[in-house]
Amino acid sequence: MSISSGLTGFAVSRWGDDPWALGSWSLIGRHGTPRDRIGLGTPVSTRLRIAGEATHPTRAGMTHGAYEQGADAGAWAAGLGHRRVAVVGAGMAGLAAARALVARGVEAVVFEARDRIGGRTAGVDVGGTGFDLGANWLQQYDDNVLARLAEQCGLTVVATDFTDPLVLGSAVSTTKTDAAGLEDELRSRLAAAPADASIQDVLDDWLRSPAPWAPDVIRRFVDAEIVMDTGAPLSWLSARHGFEPGVGEGDRWIVGGYRLLTDHLAAGLDIRLSHPVYRIEIDRQVTVNGEDSYDAVIVTVPVPVLAAGTILFDPPLPAAHRTALDHLGAGRVEKVILRFDRRFWPVHGYYRVHGPEPTSVSEWLDATPADGIPTLVGLFAGPWLAGLWTGTDSAVARGAAAVFRAASAGHDCGW
Ligand SMILES: Cc1cc2nc3c(=O)[nH]c(=O)nc-3n(C[C@H](O)[C@H](O)[C@H](O)COP(=O)(O)OP(=O)(O)OC[C@H]3O[C@@H](n4cnc5c(N)ncnc54)[C@H](O)[C@@H]3O)c2cc1C
Repeated sequence: MSISSGLTGFAVSRWGDDPWALGSWSLIGRHGTPRDRIGLGTPVSTRLRIAGEATHPTRAGMTHGAYEQGADAGAWAAGLGHRRVAVVGAGMAGLAAARALVARGVEAVVFEARDRIGGRTAGVDVGGTGFDLGANWLQQYDDNVLARLAEQCGLTVVATDFTDPLVLGSAVSTTKTDAAGLEDELRSRLAAAPADASIQDVLDDWLRSPAPWAPDVIRRFVDAEIVMDTGAPLSWLSARHGFEPGVGEGDRWIVGGYRLLTDHLAAGLDIRLSHPVYRIEIDRQVTVNGEDSYDAVIVTVPVPVLAAGTILFDPPLPAAHRTALDHLGAGRVEKVILRFDRRFWPVHGYYRVHGPEPTSVSEWLDATPADGIPTLVGLFAGPWLAGLWTGTDSAVARGAAAVFRAASAGHDCGW
């Protein structure tokens, strides 16, 4: 690493390529509705239920939604009188399911494909301090079961105002008042769209008569709100249902990362790491990978992993569940953690940088409060990723750092 870059440490996510994720979080495509989420989470039989973040009708794509669905599925299996239950996946939903089972006196065996727990929360040490390459924030903080757990565990959390980014390096700037007006207009256009319209359809229509806003202001707003929030092509996302709630409703990031919660949740559970599940047979019992028998199974793997057929179900999943999988999908948002020898950016907390092309966007958290060492956490989405997220982690980190450095050049660092 070149000393002149000022970069002293880094970590890079690869959610798009990761066979156990194949994307970042679940989304509703143009032919889908929230009923697909409910359909996917409806028990297949008394012995099989799917329960990950994607099955939450209103809190999908978030850790507390995953936790709630897992806990509900665990209570469901115990309520049916099952005594031994397999759980597939040791992410937030799987951990919650296993805990709910064990709390009711049911034996739970958790199969996890990776050699670590946490799923799309992924703790890493960078320069001796813990960060997360997946989820960072407790969203909807006031009504978030994991926020209450974080409080009980005495964790330090720091608020982020997503409505007040410092936009760096962009000729197009939006005031807070503009943003509020744009959001109202966007929401009402999306709500009024035909049932199978995409967000791109709505945007194209809006740009035909953009007044009182300049077209670039609208495009940048959509990039910041929807592309950054989904990482999916606008032409795939459902206009009515593809822009779901979550961000901007009271977000606080966990200093030290989510593993402070997942380690707590996993304590005492029977978790078999490096045990991918590839076959689930259901007859009078459930057989996992042709070996052990269980009374029931709770499957918490991400939607694209299920849709790819990574797990063979015998009998196959019913048509309603397969349709739900067709209607749902996931986008790609990647994260980079960058540590520097000095802070060269203005003190603000949260930043946005738009890319060279439309629908390329990144947002940045100043994570220096973690331990006082200058640190940025960057999230990238859109076509930018195809160019930036190639090569080694070091190349990605340098490329991402260069993006932020160039955008912040000329801004007073405030120190
Ligand atoms: C970059 C990024 C940033 C995010 N930021 C936030 C945030 O700030 N706040 C927030 O609330 N949410 C955030 N999220 C979303 C959040 O991380 C997820 O919604 C949540 O963690 C999903 O939990 P889950 O248990 O449903 O799925 P997962 O965490 O994906 O757990 C599923 C588990 O199943 C395992 N698995 C997969 N296939 C198999 C198999 N065949 N056999 C056995 N095991 C298998 C996986 O390895 C994984 O451990 C973010 C996600 C990403 C990627």
